[in-house]
Amino acid sequence: TQTLPVPDRTSIISMQGLEKKFGTFTALRDIDLDVREGEILTFLGPSGCGKTTLMRIIAGFEDPTAGSLQLRGADMRRLPPEKRPINMVFQRYALFPHLDVFDNVAFGLRLKNWPAARINERVGRMLKMVQMDTMATRWIHELSGGQSQRVALARALANEPQLLLLDEPLAALDLKIRHHMLSELKRIQRETGTTFVYVTHDQDEAMILSSRIVLMNHGRIEQLGTPDELYFHPVSLFAAKFLGETNILPAEVRSGAGDDAVLEGLAGRMRASHLPKGLADGQKVHVSIRPETVSLSDSTVGTAPEINGALAEITQIQPIGSRVVYTARLDNGTEMRSQTVRPPDALPLAMGQKVHLKWSEAAVAVLTA
Ligand code: ATP
Repeated sequence: TQTLPVPDRTSIISMQGLEKKFGTFTALRDIDLDVREGEILTFLGPSGCGKTTLMRIIAGFEDPTAGSLQLRGADMRRLPPEKRPINMVFQRYALFPHLDVFDNVAFGLRLKNWPAARINERVGRMLKMVQMDTMATRWIHELSGGQSQRVALARALANEPQLLLLDEPLAALDLKIRHHMLSELKRIQRETGTTFVYVTHDQDEAMILSSRIVLMNHGRIEQLGTPDELYFHPVSLFAAKFLGETNILPAEVRSGAGDDAVLEGLAGRMRASHLPKGLADGQKVHVSIRPETVSLSDSTVGTAPEINGALAEITQIQPIGSRVVYTARLDNGTEMRSQTVRPPDALPLAMGQKVHLKWSEAAVAVLTA
């Protein structure tokens, strides 16, 4: 007899050593990933990194060329798409134009030969949830993009899938509606408890929506973690640059053995409170310091900090709506950006002014790759 592996009770989908080749081109490699019950897991990454391919493998539209793919501990690879407890919502919502809103949502339930009363109840509940219950008799061409996307969502959720795959579902919508739809998606996910796997190349979308983010790069998982982990503790240059604005500086480890490594770099001596494992003395790394963690103050007041700080001159001031970004140049020519909330009155600092830059140990992310 064969002993079945004990499935991780918290994971619905489990992938190990997954690989996908198209001919000689490797679109996905070394994918080890669990999708946890009830989470919103987002595949994030630049165009061509493999997000959609990974999604299509979960849905069953593509077969992996190597590795294992399990649904609650059972092999999924021979399960055809229609047998998987999974539904999908695309960027192009693909609603049926010859049916009204109600009939679009009812479509899958009718295929299952549900009785009319049960269909009415389910469709009514779904349309209420996406706040389209007053538009049940509208034709699809009478809907806005956001409304169409709600109907597509209601249709996908009507089957009560265990897993909902969403491939850039908001890409066709404008920014305001997109932000509104993101909070709607979160609410709907909370209400239904459905596990969501979401694909986007938009870092803001990923940060707003996700329980966890899978950051992908050239078919590999670059980093997997919560939005906060990825933002504050990126593991690589790629990750630090992909999410948000940042200052990247080369540095060298001076005493990496303990908990409080000292780094020496273009912005002087630094200490970081959160360190990657296995740093060695003399190791060349980069540090990432987010502009909103760098504070500026008039250099005629107080003394320049000896660590995690520098003396600099303001070379650029860029107000951007609610915030203002300062660029300051150190004596050695290194430039660093600092970002603050924009005050309603005159800015306290001027071009050419000498300033002290300062940042905390927690603000320094050490990148080893
Ligand atoms: P985007 O954000 O542009 O949609 P993506 O991250 O979703 O990108 P994929 O669509 O997964 O990327 O594609 C990953 C890589 O695999 C790309 O280089 C793509 O050209 C390639 N690819 C995808 N499908 C096929 C196919 N059927 N045959 C050959 N190559 C393919």
